[in-house]
Amino acid sequence: MKITRVEPFHCDGGWRPWTFVKIETDDGLVGWGECSDNRNARGVAGCVRDFQHLLIGRDPRAVELLYWDLLRHSRQNLGGVSHKAIAGIELALWDVKARALGVPVYELFGGPLRERVRLYWSHCGTTRARHGRALGLPELRSYDDVVALGREVVQRGFSALKTNIVIPGDPADTYFPGFASGAGSTDGALDQQILRKIERLLAAFAEGAGPDVQLALDLNYNFRTEGAVKVARMLEQFNTLWVEYDNWDPKALLQLKESTTNSIASCESLVSTRQYRPFLELQAMDVAIIDVPWNGFGQAVKIGSMAEAYEINCAPHNYYSHLADLHSVQLCAVLPNVRIMEIDVDDVPWKRELVTKPPTIDNGYIQVPTGPGWGAEIVEEVLREHPWPPPSGSPGGSMGSRY
Ligand SMILES: [Mg+2]
Repeated sequence: MKITRVEPFHCDGGWRPWTFVKIETDDGLVGWGECSDNRNARGVAGCVRDFQHLLIGRDPRAVELLYWDLLRHSRQNLGGVSHKAIAGIELALWDVKARALGVPVYELFGGPLRERVRLYWSHCGTTRARHGRALGLPELRSYDDVVALGREVVQRGFSALKTNIVIPGDPADTYFPGFASGAGSTDGALDQQILRKIERLLAAFAEGAGPDVQLALDLNYNFRTEGAVKVARMLEQFNTLWVEYDNWDPKALLQLKESTTNSIASCESLVSTRQYRPFLELQAMDVAIIDVPWNGFGQAVKIGSMAEAYEINCAPHNYYSHLADLHSVQLCAVLPNVRIMEIDVDDVPWKRELVTKPPTIDNGYIQVPTGPGWGAEIVEEVLREHPWPPPSGSPGGSMGSRY
């Protein structure tokens, strides 16, 4: 079996592109991988094209050999765009290999360890604050609307949600100091006004969702350690899943973890075992977040296994198309140290049509698929109907690009 074609594709995901790699073989097998990155999507696709000459004519089933050939070719660029391109290719290679054998990918890694995985509703309120009107979803004009969204989370069967710093209003907004459009700057300094807004937001979610739903807040990189400590301590009054915070310094993250009784989740933007190693050695987080479309499956499994050796749980970083949902749930199917899995509930209407078999989500859990490969393929007709960048005037074109 030989690889005959390697192509990147973009699909309009409303306010961000979804990026895929398709690999074709001389005996008609096709594999798909997702490596979405809404910051440098053209760069990721360009890197995929840069790797084509290393793949054409090779046997796609030697996945590890090809992964290391690609990594060696680009090791002066460890991480970032090139690693996301490698990940998308590697995920498509696993799909080809598993389909050649007629088994799900997790069978190649000794799975499944479980039949379903608990989910948390991610960007809860965030997506509605930014795109609620364009998506035809209830907007967040007041804290009563946030309470109502908390109730909806319960009614739809979820036992955990994650939000960002959402400020209800008309229009609602989200506070991201790192964004040029945000109220702050890259200084990352926390002020009392934002701390009070966070407290009020979480109180509204807690009122609507009740005592049985765990709440998580994602601070991303938006404060220095000092600000994250103040937020984490303030949130100790709530029934929290975790406080999520990204920081490039393992010691700074450990400082946060040791300063609060809240659980700390982190490391979503790290790639490769080498980037995770210093954080794991310090046991700087309670939950290691792993992005499969940015790491590839083999690295994600290895990182998860390293975390297990340090008595640390994992949770997939997953806010993409349903293909990535299937990548992430299959990671959960092969790791023995899974906390919960992220999923975006509020999304564009064509999300389900884009795959041949959307994942089954029921009562706050996602089922581990049983079909070959990832359990579904991309429907190219739907992909072509929603090009990225979207033409102005299209549903996606009206949403802008934020996240
Ligand atoms: Mg995050």
